[in-house]
Amino acid sequence: MAARPAPYLEGLNPAQREAVEALDGPVLMLAGAGTGKTRALTARIAHLLARGLARPNEILAVTFTNKAAREMKERVGRLTGGTVEGMPWMGTFHSISVKILRRHAELVGLKSNFTILDTDDQIRLLKQVIAAANIDEKRWPARQLAGLIDHWKNRAWGPEQVPSAEASAFNHMGTELYAAYQARLLTLNACDFGDLLLHVVTIFQKHPDVLEQYQRWFRYILVDEYQDTNVAQYLWLRLLAAKHKNICCVGDDDQSIYGWRGAEVGNILRFEKDFPGAKVIRLEQNYRSGEHILAAASGLIAANAGRLGKTLWTEAEGGEKVRLIGHWDGDEEARWIGEEAEALQRGTRGLGPFRLTQQAILVRASHQMRAFEDRFLTIGLPYRVVGGPRFYERLEIRDAMAYFRLAVSPADDLAFERIVNTPKRGLGDKAQQVIQRQAREDGVSLLEGARYVVASGQIGGKGGAQLRLLVEQIDRWHKETAAPGYDHIRLAETILDESGYTEMWQNDKTPEAPGRLENLKELVKALESFENLQGFLEHVSLIMDNDSEDAEDKITIMTLHAAKGLEFPVVFLPGWEDGLFPSQRSMDESGLRGLEEERRLAYVGITRAEELCTISFAGNRRVYGQWQSQLPSRFIDELPASHVEVLTPPGLYGGGFGAAAPRAGESAMEDRATRADVYNSPGWKRMQDRAGHRSISQPRDSRNQIIDLEAVSAFTEGDRVFHKKFGYGTVEATEGDKLEIAFDKAGVKHVVSSFVVAAET
Ligand code: ATP
Ligand code: MG
Repeated sequence: MAARPAPYLEGLNPAQREAVEALDGPVLMLAGAGTGKTRALTARIAHLLARGLARPNEILAVTFTNKAAREMKERVGRLTGGTVEGMPWMGTFHSISVKILRRHAELVGLKSNFTILDTDDQIRLLKQVIAAANIDEKRWPARQLAGLIDHWKNRAWGPEQVPSAEASAFNHMGTELYAAYQARLLTLNACDFGDLLLHVVTIFQKHPDVLEQYQRWFRYILVDEYQDTNVAQYLWLRLLAAKHKNICCVGDDDQSIYGWRGAEVGNILRFEKDFPGAKVIRLEQNYRSGEHILAAASGLIAANAGRLGKTLWTEAEGGEKVRLIGHWDGDEEARWIGEEAEALQRGTRGLGPFRLTQQAILVRASHQMRAFEDRFLTIGLPYRVVGGPRFYERLEIRDAMAYFRLAVSPADDLAFERIVNTPKRGLGDKAQQVIQRQAREDGVSLLEGARYVVASGQIGGKGGAQLRLLVEQIDRWHKETAAPGYDHIRLAETILDESGYTEMWQNDKTPEAPGRLENLKELVKALESFENLQGFLEHVSLIMDNDSEDAEDKITIMTLHAAKGLEFPVVFLPGWEDGLFPSQRSMDESGLRGLEEERRLAYVGITRAEELCTISFAGNRRVYGQWQSQLPSRFIDELPASHVEVLTPPGLYGGGFGAAAPRAGESAMEDRATRADVYNSPGWKRMQDRAGHRSISQPRDSRNQIIDLEAVSAFTEGDRVFHKKFGYGTVEATEGDKLEIAFDKAGVKHVVSSFVVAAET
């Protein structure tokens, strides 16, 4: 009688089992989403412990987030039938590095109680360094330098190792300032995030005795989400694994989404070189997603070149197709998703019921979250924002809100303090102390204190002049808010302009700046649903107090980046529009690198879904208060049509949920759900009608020549047209939107007019 397998082996497929049991030597598990990589990795740890091959503190396990590490610990505990006490070396690259660095800080000139700077501290320090070098910070902003230094640290380059090819960086001062910054950090007994890894690598490289100690200690090394390691992390791993070579890395090249942060898919390829004889295990069965979801994701990612390539299959046949729905605008998209989430919660869609915690909304850019947060607050749908602050807690939003608060209540001292020197007005600590002293002495608000300081000339020079201007501005803005029915949107824009706040971010060259400007636009947009600034501020203060405890059933809102490795029964993917997803930046870039990374991100998104995945887009979004028509994402064209169901937006002119668009005769011949499918759906047509009423420009797609909506039913007999499959032809007859066309090569066919475009004559 065969012995019952250990609990951690139960249910594993042969390939997973191999990965669990191949304990000696390097192992690379390379497999697509949802194939049980993380599960196998967890079982491997349980196996190591159960077999007594390593004690819990001799296993180094690197996960993508601290949360993932906690979950893995729990799972290992369950699998081994006990709680795992003391797995101290399970965590992120950063959390593990901190531990190592604390023990050997003196080797890089730090004390063991060093502080870790956050981004704000880091920028402040870099500003000092830039100023000390007599460089104009306006032209050479600290944030740009921070990005550069981060980039170098990701490649494990200390100031001396930065290659000469980078010598011209930051006005030829980059490396010099980098060295100065590092020196400042040491005198402050501090380091930044990137240093955590860099210092550890340096220690390992310069002190072989220390390295050996850890090499001996970590008998087994395991790494999840390996495709997103950068060079510094790779070196860190390679050094540690060099002795035992018992390293097991798990990854999926199709899910590499941190190229912009220096991650290198090439690390996967280097693995086999650096660890010759590595066992490569491929998993092909996906256990997470339904058939259609998996097929849609696979179809999409197939458009990327240079993949390592893999097959995926699932036993979960049938299930729901990936649903695709176009909305009139972003608010309607948010409204629909809110209602849909509630319907799924009640189980009235013939599926589920799904608790809200089983549902997630995954966005490309964090500014997209605002529309959902506002909508859900309005209808009382509990939600949680994961990864990154909620919209109204973001730095730029709080700054902008501080300006609005001052305009409404000039005596708001906290708001005054926050913005008096943001943007820079030459009102540093000293000047602010003068204002505060004055206000205290007179028992008045800071604004009144400042007014007196200005009048009495206590602060001179540029700072004095700027303070005078600010006081005048606040007075003027306040006066406006007192007028009944004032145009609060215009006022908000005026405030952000006049104060120089928008400009501050426009001049900022760091990667975050565009996102912050987007958020500011979102903020102004949010004002549109309120009558005045007062009402809006009240609304926000209520939101901020509304953060109930976490045990509650809540729908998750998070970015696609943060969703890596996670799974949800129900996933909503909103905002699939060119310029948003794929992002404008990736589309503007020459070459396909950026676009392919966006596509991998889309793949990550779809593959998070277990049972139901809904992709949506809006035909119109408001940018700077102006309507802008949006094109559905090019990724939508890449979804295989047989796995996609096009939904009709409900509610408009009586359209019902679930009324799939009639597929035009030829659309199925190519297995693609095209934008044309969507444009031809009854719901979209109705949106077009509405667009007509509001005289907003119609979406068109000149780039891909798929369809030109203005040409719909505009054809008459004798017109020369072009059809993607049948080529050129002449219209013989028309009936509604159906055309009879004599194609030059294919003969006479009946096609729907939207599948042809006017041929250039
Ligand atoms: P990702 O690439 O998204 O990180 P992954 O490859 O790490 O995915 P897991 O998260 O480990 O995949 O597994 C996906 C789902 O499949 C989980 O719910 C897991 O419990 C389940 N699963 C994994 N292996 C098996 C198996 N052999 N039998 C049944 N279910 C499994
Ligand atoms: Mg995983």
